[in-house]
Amino acid sequence: MTQSEIQQRALALLAKFYGYRSFRPGQLDIITSVASGRDTTVLMPTGGGKSLCYQIPGIMLEGVAIVVSPLIALMQDQVHALQANGIPAAALHSGLDQASERAVLEHLYAGHIKLLYMSPERLLADIERLSSDIRVSLFAIDEAHCISQWGHDFRPVYTALGRIKALYPSTPVIALTATADKVTRDDISRQLGLKDPYQYIGSFDRPNISLAVRAASSRAEKMKAIVDLVKKYSSDSGIVYCLSRKNTETVCEELKRKGFSAVCYHAGMPVAAREASQRAFINGDVQVVCATVAFGMGIDKSNIRWVAHFNMPSNIESYYQEVGRAGRDGMPAEAIMFYSYADVVALETFAQESGQQQVAMDKLARMKAFAEATNCLRRMLLSYFGQEMDHDCGNCDVCANPPERIDGTVLSQMAMSAILRTGSNIGQSMTIDILRGSGKADLVEKGYHLLKTYGVGRDLGGLEWGNYLQQMLHLGLIAIDYDRGKRFSVTPYGMRVLKGAERVAFSKFTMGERPVKKKKAASVKKPENALLDVLKRVRMAQAKAAGMPAYMVFSDATLNDMAEKAPRSKQEFAQVLGVGEKKLERFWRPFVEAIVNAELL
Ligand code: ADP
Ligand code: ZN
Repeated sequence: MTQSEIQQRALALLAKFYGYRSFRPGQLDIITSVASGRDTTVLMPTGGGKSLCYQIPGIMLEGVAIVVSPLIALMQDQVHALQANGIPAAALHSGLDQASERAVLEHLYAGHIKLLYMSPERLLADIERLSSDIRVSLFAIDEAHCISQWGHDFRPVYTALGRIKALYPSTPVIALTATADKVTRDDISRQLGLKDPYQYIGSFDRPNISLAVRAASSRAEKMKAIVDLVKKYSSDSGIVYCLSRKNTETVCEELKRKGFSAVCYHAGMPVAAREASQRAFINGDVQVVCATVAFGMGIDKSNIRWVAHFNMPSNIESYYQEVGRAGRDGMPAEAIMFYSYADVVALETFAQESGQQQVAMDKLARMKAFAEATNCLRRMLLSYFGQEMDHDCGNCDVCANPPERIDGTVLSQMAMSAILRTGSNIGQSMTIDILRGSGKADLVEKGYHLLKTYGVGRDLGGLEWGNYLQQMLHLGLIAIDYDRGKRFSVTPYGMRVLKGAERVAFSKFTMGERPVKKKKAASVKKPENALLDVLKRVRMAQAKAAGMPAYMVFSDATLNDMAEKAPRSKQEFAQVLGVGEKKLERFWRPFVEAIVNAELL
């Protein structure tokens, strides 16, 4: 197939099976790369649309696409969603009984399956004889950051996946993840043994999620904020993340006492109870799930409207991933995080006890800096993932209540110049010492007292410089290289500021606490639409009848488009975004009838 043939077929499949008219950024290039047989890595935020990137090549190419996925719940969800769209898919994992497994294998050998989901353990057990039984079109490795010790979710079994490329050198491998810094990304390619992969790095921005961070609130204040969210989104759902199992239970009880429907979820619960909680939440039978970090990987419920962190998470990757579970349909959503000194103490203890003390402590330090920072929260998140954003976002707590600003251009030029003149060989304390003209022995030993920038920042105190260097980090002017002993480097954006091509604003340094925020954060208006409510009821009824979760019948984005277009016929219904051929046949009638009836009232 030529590239343009691949692209034409991809568009046709997108319309037929998924009911979408155009690709999201990156999708078509990724699909083209995989379908032409090239190894590919994909870094795209949750909700960015990663699944299509291997599913469409899987449907298009001859043979079976093998998808490696770490969680059984995730596989089953994906398989159901694919089947609902009329795509033949199945899963093989340890949770199947013998009869179901036999049924899957029969379908597989008969050539009736295009996408086969497998746990890594299962794939590794079968990998040698796989090719004698079926023709493999491609391998997709989902949650690929699990392969790296640098990642925040290391799974040893993933490190054996390098065998895929060793045994199937000419079959394309696509590795996908929503969270990975540069070190982790390099690790993924290296460990999987990818050959000259096409690398797609998507934007990490999720502009539809408003971000808020609140310091040291009392328990009562936290509960009040959560109850406000539950009430505001009374017909939609949200997640409360807590640090301890006990907390998930008490928060859940408190919500129930106040008359809201909630369940809890943590690793200490019996498996059956945990799965029941997850099902109830996914199906929309309960509004809130109070959970530990154990909850969420593989939840692709698209209509979660808010995520609250009752405690600070242990690292920015987790925070970003958990927040990213909200608003996957692209509609407005809210994230609020509470943090306190007690959280930090508890997390430090965990970090000390973890297998990778230093990595864990470094990651915690960045998380704490994020919680206390006075710069646009979104800019800080993006710069953490190495992505440039040269303006404030306008949809976070800090943007809504900006602290007093000063021009930071000259200050940051001083600091960056010092960093560069040492050959980017220094970390925070040495940078401050050079700027302030300290006479410390190791500074003089390295000859740094001879640098042109030595002592240029004498007017400011050490604490002040420390604060401004942190802001430079948050704004993305400099980065910390963890694999080079935490030395600073200057980013391309920083270079532009250094050369005077751009200016930068700092928030003014003040001793003590971050200024208390008085105004409320930018918040979303509750959509008022009578037809939408009618459609949600129809969706719920259809979901119950079909025994599948509501969002799998149609996503919120599809329902909104439907409410807007108000289709009155099958042809008009087919124009709604997210209505593919299979769902058109299956669902057009009840929805169109409801729309016609609603108009008669
Ligand atoms: P990820 O795996 O990256 O978290 P998904 O693949 O689950 O994201 O996609 C998130 C949502 O976006 C899903 O509801 C999916 O149907 C939708 N989506 C993906 N691609 C498109 C597209 N090209 N047009 C419209 N919606 C899309
Ligand atoms: Zn902002």
